[in-house]
Amino acid sequence: MSSAARQREWRQRRYSERVPGVNGKPFHPDAPHGRFTAYVNFGCRCQDCADANTRVQHRYRKMRKEGML
Ligand SMILES: [Zn+2]
Repeated sequence: MSSAARQREWRQRRYSERVPGVNGKPFHPDAPHGRFTAYVNFGCRCQDCADANTRVQHRYRKMRKEGML
C-alpha cells in the first residue's frame, strides 16, 4: 500500500472517531486543538480548530497575493 493511501486510511479512521461538539460540529477528543493539523488530519471543527484553519487560509492567500507561492 502506498504511503498516501495509508495516510488516507489513517485520516478516515480519525474522522470516524469524531463526536458532535458543543457548537454542533464534529469534534475529535484526541486532536491537538487550535492547530491546523487537527482541522485537516483529525477533521475537528471545534472553534479553536476552525480558527486555526482560518489563520492558515489567510496566510496562504496573503502569500499568494505577494507572489511568495
Ligand atoms: Zn478541535
